[in-house]
Amino acid sequence: MCKKEAHILGNGCNKPRESCLGIAPVPDGFKDSNWGRPISKKEAYEIIEKAEAFGLVHMIYNSQQDHYFICNCCGCCCNVLRGINKLNIPAGWVVSSNYYAAIDMAECSECGICTDERCQVAAIEKDHEAYRVVVEKCIGCGLCVTTCPSDAICLVRKNETDCEIPPKDEEEWFKMRGVNRGVEFSRYT
Ligand code: SF4
Ligand code: SF4
Repeated sequence: MCKKEAHILGNGCNKPRESCLGIAPVPDGFKDSNWGRPISKKEAYEIIEKAEAFGLVHMIYNSQQDHYFICNCCGCCCNVLRGINKLNIPAGWVVSSNYYAAIDMAECSECGICTDERCQVAAIEKDHEAYRVVVEKCIGCGLCVTTCPSDAICLVRKNETDCEIPPKDEEEWFKMRGVNRGVEFSRYT
């Protein structure tokens, strides 16, 4: 959706557009759908691998179950990531992750791939002659880790006191959001 929007508005990028997956809980859930096409599990894996190769961030709902989509998008098209980049929104306000990237400066060969080609939220900066992760901006996606030629980057789990346990399911998540916004939520009313 975000990539399609960006292309319609003339702001599209050259990364794959067919990149987001919907997951139906029943067979043939997308049979006559007009917003996607049914694919095999094998093709779904291929789309995920292609997304990874193009540096697209994998994103899902913020709950332990009830998952019905996997978005794969970039910092220029994704409505969430673009918001972080254009409006300078702190990553933690809109993306929940219990991990952040860290660079071992002794191993870093200063090739710049992590910042020039992989990070979608500008969370890696060149600081004098060294690259470093700006932890407040990092969304813990791991895209920088998988292509570092020197194996100098790894994901680190935050302190347990800073880690968040995602809500059990979509209903619990909506209730939490309602409480945070001062409104009551009921799925059936
Ligand atoms: S990709 Fe790895 S080696 Fe290259 S600048 Fe980043 S941390 Fe250093
Ligand atoms: S994990 Fe790496 S690529 Fe992802 S946001 Fe953090 S620094 Fe950027």
